[in-house]
Amino acid sequence: MASKKIGIYPGTFDPITHGHTDIIGRAARLLDRLVVGVAINPGKGPIFDIDERVSLVQDEISHLENGIGERIDVQPFSGLLIDFARDVNATVIVRGLRAVSDFDYEFQMASMNAKMAPSVETVCLMASDKYHFIASSLVKEIAKLGGDVTQFVSPRVSKRLNERLNDPKTP
Ligand code: ADP
Repeated sequence: MASKKIGIYPGTFDPITHGHTDIIGRAARLLDRLVVGVAINPGKGPIFDIDERVSLVQDEISHLENGIGERIDVQPFSGLLIDFARDVNATVIVRGLRAVSDFDYEFQMASMNAKMAPSVETVCLMASDKYHFIASSLVKEIAKLGGDVTQFVSPRVSKRLNERLNDPKTP
Protein backbone atom coordinates (compact mmCIF):
# COMPACT_ATOMS: atom_id res chain seq x y z
CA MET A 1 0.00 0.00 0.00
CA ALA A 2 1.24 3.50 -0.80
CA SER A 3 2.46 5.38 2.25
CA LYS A 4 0.20 8.02 3.72
CA LYS A 5 0.66 11.54 2.42
CA ILE A 6 1.27 13.78 5.42
CA GLY A 7 1.46 17.56 5.19
CA ILE A 8 2.16 20.38 7.62
CA TYR A 9 0.54 23.80 7.52
CA PRO A 10 2.76 26.13 9.55
CA GLY A 11 1.90 29.62 10.73
CA THR A 12 1.68 31.93 13.69
CA PHE A 13 -2.15 31.91 13.77
CA ASP A 14 -2.33 35.01 15.98
CA PRO A 15 -5.26 34.54 15.75
CA ILE A 16 -6.66 32.02 13.27
CA THR A 17 -8.88 33.71 10.62
CA HIS A 18 -11.42 32.44 8.08
CA GLY A 19 -8.57 32.56 5.52
CA HIS A 20 -6.51 30.07 7.54
CA THR A 21 -9.48 27.79 8.21
CA ASP A 22 -10.29 27.72 4.50
CA ILE A 23 -6.71 26.63 3.66
CA ILE A 24 -6.79 23.99 6.43
CA GLY A 25 -10.01 22.42 5.07
CA ARG A 26 -8.83 22.48 1.46
CA ALA A 27 -5.37 21.08 2.30
CA ALA A 28 -6.84 18.30 4.45
CA ARG A 29 -8.89 17.13 1.46
CA LEU A 30 -5.67 16.70 -0.57
CA LEU A 31 -3.79 14.76 2.10
CA ASP A 32 -4.21 11.70 4.30
CA ARG A 33 -3.18 13.72 7.33
CA LEU A 34 -2.56 17.40 7.95
CA VAL A 35 -0.62 18.71 10.92
CA VAL A 36 -1.26 22.37 11.61
CA GLY A 37 1.99 23.64 13.12
CA VAL A 38 1.54 26.65 15.37
CA ALA A 39 4.87 28.45 15.54
CA ILE A 40 5.79 29.55 19.03
CA ASN A 41 7.45 32.59 17.35
CA PRO A 42 8.07 34.90 20.30
CA GLY A 43 9.93 37.21 17.91
CA LYS A 44 6.66 38.13 16.21
CA GLY A 45 5.25 39.34 19.54
CA PRO A 46 1.99 37.37 19.34
CA ILE A 47 -0.89 38.69 21.45
CA PHE A 48 -2.14 35.18 22.22
CA ASP A 49 0.20 32.75 23.93
CA ILE A 50 1.00 29.46 22.26
CA ASP A 51 -1.53 27.40 24.25
CA GLU A 52 -4.35 29.73 23.36
CA ARG A 53 -3.40 29.90 19.66
CA VAL A 54 -3.34 26.07 19.56
CA SER A 55 -6.67 25.86 21.34
CA LEU A 56 -8.33 28.41 19.00
CA VAL A 57 -7.09 26.44 15.96
CA GLN A 58 -8.40 23.18 17.48
CA ASP A 59 -11.73 24.82 18.07
CA GLU A 60 -12.05 25.92 14.41
CA ILE A 61 -11.12 22.44 13.20
CA SER A 62 -13.80 20.85 15.36
CA HIS A 63 -16.35 22.90 13.40
CA LEU A 64 -15.24 21.72 9.93
CA GLU A 65 -17.81 19.70 8.03
CA ASN A 66 -17.92 15.98 7.20
CA GLY A 67 -15.53 14.68 9.82
CA ILE A 68 -12.60 16.21 7.93
CA GLY A 69 -11.22 17.31 11.31
CA GLU A 70 -10.44 13.69 12.14
CA ARG A 71 -7.56 13.86 9.66
CA ILE A 72 -6.12 17.04 11.18
CA ASP A 73 -3.83 17.49 14.19
CA VAL A 74 -2.62 20.69 15.76
CA GLN A 75 0.84 20.94 17.31
CA PRO A 76 3.00 23.77 18.59
CA PHE A 77 6.52 23.89 17.21
CA SER A 78 9.71 25.89 17.38
CA GLY A 79 12.94 25.59 15.45
CA LEU A 80 13.41 24.81 11.80
CA LEU A 81 10.31 24.02 9.77
CA ILE A 82 12.01 21.17 7.95
CA ASP A 83 12.90 19.56 11.29
CA PHE A 84 9.25 19.79 12.32
CA ALA A 85 8.29 18.23 8.97
CA ARG A 86 10.71 15.36 9.60
CA ASP A 87 9.45 14.88 13.15
CA VAL A 88 5.89 14.27 11.93
CA ASN A 89 6.94 12.37 8.76
CA ALA A 90 5.52 15.07 6.50
CA THR A 91 6.60 15.33 2.87
CA VAL A 92 4.50 18.39 2.08
CA ILE A 93 4.56 21.94 3.47
CA VAL A 94 1.31 23.78 2.79
CA ARG A 95 1.22 27.58 2.58
CA GLY A 96 -1.51 30.01 1.57
CA LEU A 97 -0.84 32.64 -1.11
CA ARG A 98 -2.90 35.80 -0.96
CA ALA A 99 -1.26 38.29 -3.26
CA VAL A 100 1.89 39.12 -5.14
CA SER A 101 3.16 40.55 -1.88
CA ASP A 102 3.12 37.05 -0.32
CA PHE A 103 4.85 35.52 -3.32
CA ASP A 104 8.43 36.80 -2.88
CA TYR A 105 8.63 35.62 0.71
CA GLU A 106 6.96 32.26 0.07
CA PHE A 107 9.13 31.59 -3.00
CA GLN A 108 12.30 32.36 -1.08
CA MET A 109 11.23 30.21 1.91
CA ALA A 110 10.23 27.33 -0.36
CA SER A 111 13.58 27.51 -2.18
CA MET A 112 15.62 27.60 1.04
CA ASN A 113 13.64 24.70 2.50
CA ALA A 114 14.01 22.73 -0.75
CA LYS A 115 17.79 23.15 -0.59
CA MET A 116 17.86 21.93 3.02
CA ALA A 117 15.28 19.14 2.60
CA PRO A 118 14.84 18.18 -1.07
CA SER A 119 12.33 15.44 -0.24
CA VAL A 120 9.87 17.92 1.28
CA GLU A 121 7.72 19.75 -1.28
CA THR A 122 6.14 23.16 -0.62
CA VAL A 123 2.61 23.44 -2.00
CA CYS A 124 0.94 26.87 -2.08
CA LEU A 125 -2.83 27.03 -2.21
CA MET A 126 -4.32 30.17 -3.67
CA ALA A 127 -6.39 32.14 -1.16
CA SER A 128 -10.12 31.93 -1.85
CA ASP A 129 -11.71 35.02 -3.36
CA LYS A 130 -13.89 35.29 -0.24
CA TYR A 131 -10.92 35.52 2.11
CA HIS A 132 -7.87 36.70 0.17
CA PHE A 133 -7.78 40.12 1.90
CA ILE A 134 -7.83 38.78 5.47
CA ALA A 135 -4.64 39.06 7.53
CA SER A 136 -4.31 38.34 11.27
CA SER A 137 -2.32 41.56 11.69
CA LEU A 138 -5.15 43.71 10.25
CA VAL A 139 -7.77 41.83 12.24
CA LYS A 140 -5.87 42.68 15.44
CA GLU A 141 -5.50 46.32 14.35
CA ILE A 142 -9.24 46.63 13.64
CA ALA A 143 -10.17 44.95 16.93
CA LYS A 144 -7.78 47.22 18.87
CA LEU A 145 -9.52 50.26 17.38
CA GLY A 146 -12.91 48.91 18.42
CA GLY A 147 -14.00 47.68 14.97
CA ASP A 148 -16.16 44.64 14.25
CA VAL A 149 -14.11 41.65 13.04
CA THR A 150 -16.90 39.07 12.87
CA GLN A 151 -16.65 38.83 9.06
CA PHE A 152 -13.03 37.79 9.27
CA VAL A 153 -12.85 35.40 12.21
CA SER A 154 -15.23 33.02 13.98
CA PRO A 155 -17.43 34.27 16.83
CA ARG A 156 -15.19 32.33 19.25
CA VAL A 157 -12.04 34.11 18.05
CA SER A 158 -13.79 37.48 17.99
CA LYS A 159 -14.90 37.02 21.59
CA ARG A 160 -11.41 36.04 22.74
CA LEU A 161 -9.88 38.98 20.85
CA ASN A 162 -12.19 41.43 22.60
CA GLU A 163 -11.51 39.87 25.98
CA ARG A 164 -7.77 39.91 25.36
CA LEU A 165 -7.67 43.48 24.14
CA ASN A 166 -9.80 44.71 27.04
CA ASP A 167 -7.53 42.97 29.50
CA PRO A 168 -5.64 45.74 31.36
CA LYS A 169 -2.49 43.57 31.22
CA THR A 170 -2.46 43.73 27.39
CA PRO A 171 0.16 46.25 26.19
P1 ADP B 1 3.31 33.32 9.21
O1 ADP B 1 3.91 33.96 10.42
O2 ADP B 1 3.96 32.02 8.83
O3 ADP B 1 3.14 34.23 8.01
P2 ADP B 1 0.42 33.37 9.40
O4 ADP B 1 -0.40 32.79 10.50
O5 ADP B 1 0.32 34.83 9.19
O6 ADP B 1 1.87 32.90 9.73
O7 ADP B 1 0.07 32.65 8.03
C1 ADP B 1 0.21 31.27 7.86
C2 ADP B 1 -0.02 30.91 6.40
O8 ADP B 1 -1.37 31.21 6.05
C3 ADP B 1 0.83 31.71 5.41
O9 ADP B 1 1.15 30.85 4.33
C4 ADP B 1 -0.09 32.80 4.95
O10 ADP B 1 0.25 33.28 3.67
C5 ADP B 1 -1.42 32.06 4.93
N1 ADP B 1 -2.57 32.95 5.07
C6 ADP B 1 -2.76 33.93 5.98
N2 ADP B 1 -3.95 34.55 5.77
C7 ADP B 1 -4.53 33.93 4.71
C8 ADP B 1 -5.75 34.13 3.97
N3 ADP B 1 -6.60 35.11 4.29
N4 ADP B 1 -6.02 33.32 2.93
C9 ADP B 1 -5.12 32.35 2.60
N5 ADP B 1 -3.94 32.13 3.21
C10 ADP B 1 -3.65 32.90 4.26
